[in-house]
Amino acid sequence: MISQWSQTLEMQVLLAHITGRNRAWVLAHPEASLTPEQETAFLTAKNQFETGIPLPYLLGHWEFYGLDFWVTPDVLIPRPETELLIDLARTHLRPDSRLIEIGTGSGCLPITLATLLPKVEIVATDISAAALALARLNAEKHQVKDRITFLEADLFPTDLPLSTFDLILSNPPYIPTATLHGLTVFGREPGLALDGGPDGLTTIRRLLGQSQRWLAAGGVILVEVESGLGAAAHSMAKVQFPAAQVQILPDLAGLDRVLAIVT
Ligand code: GLN
Repeated sequence: MISQWSQTLEMQVLLAHITGRNRAWVLAHPEASLTPEQETAFLTAKNQFETGIPLPYLLGHWEFYGLDFWVTPDVLIPRPETELLIDLARTHLRPDSRLIEIGTGSGCLPITLATLLPKVEIVATDISAAALALARLNAEKHQVKDRITFLEADLFPTDLPLSTFDLILSNPPYIPTATLHGLTVFGREPGLALDGGPDGLTTIRRLLGQSQRWLAAGGVILVEVESGLGAAAHSMAKVQFPAAQVQILPDLAGLDRVLAIVT
């Protein structure tokens, strides 16, 4: 009987995944039993979950902004607070804007924007070839593969298909190394996507430095930041872009979350 395992939300989701049903079915059929193959698969996944492997990696997919994305341990699991970047990007993008996203991971940001804005030209980069391969699969899943140019690069590539961008978007690694080592995500999600160096701002500093060259006149930069580093990110941006309007915007939890630079 599956009811012996269906006490927690996570196990209900896992049972639904294994049986090919939804969670409502799992709850409505406590007496159902698993086939021997399903039971082996379920117990293996349950065991992995108990050793700390995040549920989205066990399921192989996760939701972001109402869309479903493949996820693997090569990419960060999409976070709800990152949906703020989509809302902000939408307020700044015009129909014919050119957008670059740096550090795309699963590709959830450019793919979501491509589905919402059918004419925007989009480039997305990542330092990880494995992440880019997954982002391409996600773009295919959402039928926007032809709309996004995915490029392997450490931040901006030296050679880009477009000369400048109206919007530079990024959710870079931003957790200070020492802090990261004390978090449960450490070792479970890719360090490349999380580790922001000694002060958490290493990648953002490089990103802002390089952005000068690629930002179109009147362009906008939106970067997700660590909630404790809003003020530091704000002053850094003011030094790089003295004439710009710089803001730190809060997420739904009221925490500093996005650095917005409007030039
Ligand atoms: N928000 C993520 C976390 O708290 C970090 C994401 C990032 O470093 N870009 O785990």
